[in-house]
Amino acid sequence: MVTTSRPLHTQKELLKRDLALAFRVLERHGHGFGLAGHITARSPGEDSFWVHYWGLGFDEVCVSDLVRADMDLNVLEGERAINVALHIHTRIYVANPHINTIIHSHPAATVAFGALGLPLKIYDQSSTLFEDNCANFNEYGGLVVDKAEGEALAAALANKQVAILQNHGLLATGGNIAEAVIAAIQLERSCALNLAILQSGQPGIEISPEVARLTRKQIYRPESFLNHWAYHSRRALAANPDVLQ
Ligand SMILES: [Zn+2]
Repeated sequence: MVTTSRPLHTQKELLKRDLALAFRVLERHGHGFGLAGHITARSPGEDSFWVHYWGLGFDEVCVSDLVRADMDLNVLEGERAINVALHIHTRIYVANPHINTIIHSHPAATVAFGALGLPLKIYDQSSTLFEDNCANFNEYGGLVVDKAEGEALAAALANKQVAILQNHGLLATGGNIAEAVIAAIQLERSCALNLAILQSGQPGIEISPEVARLTRKQIYRPESFLNHWAYHSRRALAANPDVLQ
């Protein structure tokens, strides 16, 4: 029997769909702020990445707004210009072959907590993702517009999944879009919890590092990220069907 079947979606089509959805998911969780921020993603092993063209808010990005660029920020597919600050991403990709998605955004609680210059404390089960897994970058020096500044950020991130950028925002990374998006959503919430406890004036009770490490293994398995991503992307698609355009 001759079959003419082909995959419904190529890997590239799926990556672009999920990347566009990632913007809408993060918009719904307080990461959209005017034109600030960027999300990039690549297929494993590729030395180029997809990003939205410069000038769109997180609430506007559709699949057709994505362009592919190389690590020197040359646009390889698409015709629109991209953000000049994307060396935040390129230097992390170059140094970390296992990272395939990077999120940079300016959500309010992370910016407010970051301005205190404090390490993040683990006060609840969901925040255990960041036990020994959250860097602080406390050297704000203006816009990141060249490779050297991007390299400083990549060095500060080191082997952590996320970083709080003092006076600026956050970085969240992952081996796939699901891992990075869940980390970004969770970091903003964990910073809000830290702020709330600081504002209470009471000493909060932290989860011990040992219990946090155990809990993290229990609830942050690879399939857990995918399940949470399925939920968030389903909700975002229902609310924003235009994202597939
Ligand atoms: Zn920024």
